[in-house]
Amino acid sequence: MIEEKVKSLLKEIPATNPFGEKVTLVAAVKLQTAEHINRAICGGVTDIGDNHVQEFRDKFNEIKGNPRRHFIGHLQTNKIKYLLGKVDLYHSVDRYNLAEELSRKSAQAGVTSNILIQINIGNEETKGGFALEESEEVFNKISALPALNVEGLMAMLPFDRDQALLRRLAKAMREKYDGLNAKGANFKYLSMGMSGDWKLCVEEGSNMIRLGTSIFGQRNYQKT
Ligand SMILES: *Cc1c(COP(=O)(O)O)cnc(C)c1O
Repeated sequence: MIEEKVKSLLKEIPATNPFGEKVTLVAAVKLQTAEHINRAICGGVTDIGDNHVQEFRDKFNEIKGNPRRHFIGHLQTNKIKYLLGKVDLYHSVDRYNLAEELSRKSAQAGVTSNILIQINIGNEETKGGFALEESEEVFNKISALPALNVEGLMAMLPFDRDQALLRRLAKAMREKYDGLNAKGANFKYLSMGMSGDWKLCVEEGSNMIRLGTSIFGQRNYQKT
């Protein structure tokens, strides 16, 4: 079932976005068992993203097939040590102090950490991230830190039915991404799009989507 789901999704997701960039599917694996995650990998998932450090650690050795590892959740600085050198891309650098700590600990460990800067595109109080307006200043500050490699931007659109609004926000993200790239940012990833809005996000220029529900079905928050 999960394997079939992944296979049909991989057919449905366009290979490239309108900018000609490869679209990468990251399976959002929070609350999924290692067995279910491994089934998704058998179906063709190459990248998986965790939200919780504890879950990441508990399942780490049970994951087969050596997928690329993403961390997509809110990260407390005291937990960085458990992820260092094991995460290929941190999507959710949502505050300056996290960037500083990740930089410091990466340098200490002799690794370079690849990160995305999280933008709170809907200006929502319930979500982390920097304001779109401050993203250039934030990028300049964070990219000056050692042992970090800023590879792009990440955003979560609001849960809103207003498609025109969502499209406007997604477009604004892409414009900022292109604008910073034009100034030499050398970005590779715009991580934007979840189960409810990924099509719109890819149409507007996202090249990395994070899907949970579309692959695994509704999450059972009671189980854990
Ligand atoms: C859970 C989660 C997703 C996936 O959400 P779905 O709606 O289940 O696809 C994507 N990104 C982040 C940061 C998440 O926490």
